[in-house]
Amino acid sequence: MRIELVDLEGGKGEFAHVYQPAELDLGDERASLCAPASISGRIRQTGNEVFVNGQVDACVQVDCDRCLQPIKLPVKSDFSLEYITGSEYESTRTAELTEDLMSVSVFDGQSLDIDEITKEQVLLLVPARSLCKEDCQGFCPTCGADKNAGDCSCTEVEIDPRWAALKNMMNGKS
Ligand SMILES: [Zn+2]
Ligand SMILES: [Zn+2]
Repeated sequence: MRIELVDLEGGKGEFAHVYQPAELDLGDERASLCAPASISGRIRQTGNEVFVNGQVDACVQVDCDRCLQPIKLPVKSDFSLEYITGSEYESTRTAELTEDLMSVSVFDGQSLDIDEITKEQVLLLVPARSLCKEDCQGFCPTCGADKNAGDCSCTEVEIDPRWAALKNMMNGKS
């Protein structure tokens, strides 16, 4: 969904859309939508600047970092974005490179891509690390079994190298 700025009445407008999971590819192999994602907000244009305020509400499916089980995470957030045209950015950039300007996005001055905004906002909410549960046991490094399902038959003996040497001596091997 794109919003053409010429369609805004008096430089103002509102938008709302519900994306079906198949409709919005997050473009991230780690995460996908597990339920329809909704976005809504307001657009305000003043001169070459466009302000977008809104809210995104979605459910993201990611894999557990340890056992790869799918996890569904409800995510919800308010956002506030600022857009300026490329030429406006060029002229203000040299004048004052403030931190404010760093959070500004450059756009073509014609339209806003709501799909992109939704994608960006949802991905911002995906945690860098995710576990299905705090104490997820993950896989056995030896046989690959999911240790959450129970202990595998691998014996987990970690012998201190010094004890190993002693054991070898006792066995008559040096
Ligand atoms: Zn897990
Ligand atoms: Zn094992």
